[in-house]
Amino acid sequence: MRQFLGSLLAATLLISGCSVQKSEKQGESNGAVTHARLLAANQDADNWLTVGRTYDEQRYSPLEQISDQNVGKLGLAWYSDLDTARGQEATPLVIDGVLYVSTAWSLVKAYDGATGKLLWTYDPKVPRETLVRACCDAVNRGLAAWGNLLYIGTLDGRLIAIERKTGTPMWSVDTTEKDKVYTITGAPRVIDGKVIIGNGGAEYIARGYISAYDATTGKRVWRFHTVPGDPSQPFEQPALAQAARTWTGEWWKYGGGGTVWDAIAYDPDLDLLYFGTANGGPWNASVRSPQGGDNLFTSSIVAVRSKTGEYVWHFQETPGDRWDFDSTQHIMLATLPVNGQLRRVVLHAPKNGFFYMLDAATGKFLSAKPFVRAINWTRDIDPVTGRPSPIPAAFYDKTGTPFISLPGAAGAHSWQPMSFSPKTGLVYIPVNEVSFPYAAAGPDWKPAELGYNTAMDAGKTAMPADIRQRGMARAGSTGALVAWDPVAQKTRWRVDYVGPWNGGSLSTAGNLVFEGTANGNFIAYSADKGQKLWWMPVQSGVMAAPMTYSINGVQYVAVMAGWGGVWDVATGVLADKSGPIRNISRLLVFKLGGTAQLPAAPPPPTRLPLDPPKLTGSPQQVEQGKALFARFCSVCHGDAAVSGALNPDLRYSATLENANTWRIIVIDGVLKEGGMVSWAPVMTSQEADNIRHYVTARAHEDAALAKQP
Ligand code: CA
Repeated sequence: MRQFLGSLLAATLLISGCSVQKSEKQGESNGAVTHARLLAANQDADNWLTVGRTYDEQRYSPLEQISDQNVGKLGLAWYSDLDTARGQEATPLVIDGVLYVSTAWSLVKAYDGATGKLLWTYDPKVPRETLVRACCDAVNRGLAAWGNLLYIGTLDGRLIAIERKTGTPMWSVDTTEKDKVYTITGAPRVIDGKVIIGNGGAEYIARGYISAYDATTGKRVWRFHTVPGDPSQPFEQPALAQAARTWTGEWWKYGGGGTVWDAIAYDPDLDLLYFGTANGGPWNASVRSPQGGDNLFTSSIVAVRSKTGEYVWHFQETPGDRWDFDSTQHIMLATLPVNGQLRRVVLHAPKNGFFYMLDAATGKFLSAKPFVRAINWTRDIDPVTGRPSPIPAAFYDKTGTPFISLPGAAGAHSWQPMSFSPKTGLVYIPVNEVSFPYAAAGPDWKPAELGYNTAMDAGKTAMPADIRQRGMARAGSTGALVAWDPVAQKTRWRVDYVGPWNGGSLSTAGNLVFEGTANGNFIAYSADKGQKLWWMPVQSGVMAAPMTYSINGVQYVAVMAGWGGVWDVATGVLADKSGPIRNISRLLVFKLGGTAQLPAAPPPPTRLPLDPPKLTGSPQQVEQGKALFARFCSVCHGDAAVSGALNPDLRYSATLENANTWRIIVIDGVLKEGGMVSWAPVMTSQEADNIRHYVTARAHEDAALAKQP
């Protein structure tokens, strides 16, 4: 009965909108989230109502109970071990004392924010075989709230509204076509009763778009396609006719890419909704647009009207991208002095390594400078137009010679959110300094029904067995937290880490910046100087961004631990640069004087010596297996068959000596409930067996290496 009344109340609140919320006192009741409340989110220090805290996505909290003066007394208030040991990338929401968070596999959980008591769990039951079309693990980056509902985009493309009080699903819509390769990992936003959601898939055959749904009914209101479709059909929006002039060949057959898989920001005064678009698809631009062209609106920031999705402006950061330089990274809005005048600006640190400042109203380019120490793919950025001038060698698809780019496909900055402190005027960027080798596939390349469709030859650039070359690649792969002055366009301070792929950042009025690291520490720095003031080992790598909230006058800081994502699953040899990888998926919440204790850390993971069966395949079979592995298997099982921690390392697999078991798994798909689908649509049993021979050969190479002094 109580639950039924709760549902009834929720429905009533939805209908009556903001009038109900006004009469409820925050902290005592779980009031409705309204447009007025979201617009005033910055003054509402206790709560964290939208994934970036405010529509400008600054991820700055005015809370200052925890400060640079007392952060040494920070301790664990409570923690909750999760039931999904995959990468955790979400930033929780806190609404009137309750903490809501999404986890891997698009689960949603609600906790009492003060005590950590689990209130409910909602599992959308994402089919595990969806993993085969997820480039970067079964992750989810967060929720949106409106009225008394929460919204999650699920890995398999659904947008689901959940009753906030009980976790009961209220409506669900498919935002993607079931037979296409789209996935959702990004957080929705709600703008004045419309839920905004994008999706990923630009490593496959996907055409990017972003959609708006009525928050109450789930009815679609508008959709904006980021790249033009078949020009023999009418374009869905006038802007696509302009975009189509920047494409050549038959791009629509390859999707074109430009998916909107993460960043969304909103400026209510300008009524502009901003989003970032992914790389062009396939990566190899000579395949998707053979006579060249900028390929709008890939690798761009686009601004549209929030009510209609009508195009207003765009700025393309990487024209004619062929390096997987997504522009989907965290978009932030701020009002800053530019040439002596206060100006509303867009701040952006995309994968390509340059920090951009654009005029928020017009998209006019204002400035860009590298935020990492070395960039080799372009000579510079034109100071007037903002257009890069890539070096000739970077056009690997034209030269036929592989190109090692810095930054590479992992990005100088990826989805890990940055934060801005209005007190210091600095943006805190989690950066990667990691190169990536690009080699174009041969002229006979065709899209396949399953797996990556990047038109690259990953076999040509797979990590060699040569331990010196591996050592060089490892040594050159680092990460850092960079405190960036966006007005002067320069680094003010920088903290170097052992490896890349560290956590997102949070800044607070207590002159603090919080960040978790790949090697499993949660750290507080002084925001002005970057002094390390406090840290705590959390037993697991951290990628997600922290957030902070207050209940009954007590400030808490929360962060999700649990390493994974693309870095772990796809990078094999480099994945453990920061130390032995471990994923202990866990929500951690801290407060001053917190005394909770984590259970004893399990011993570091150890690997037994490799003991592969006798190699029975011919060199030709091994070579064919290598090419197939690089195209279809390496995305999950690691470059050169060296996996990270999350997916099985096949060099150790007992099935290497049993061709029949191998076939039952790879061709018959017996493990599809675990995410390992049948690959019969793209390979024969003999080809699958050649992959077995290749992995066996790789295991022998690495077993021999291990015996070297
Ligand atoms: Ca991409």
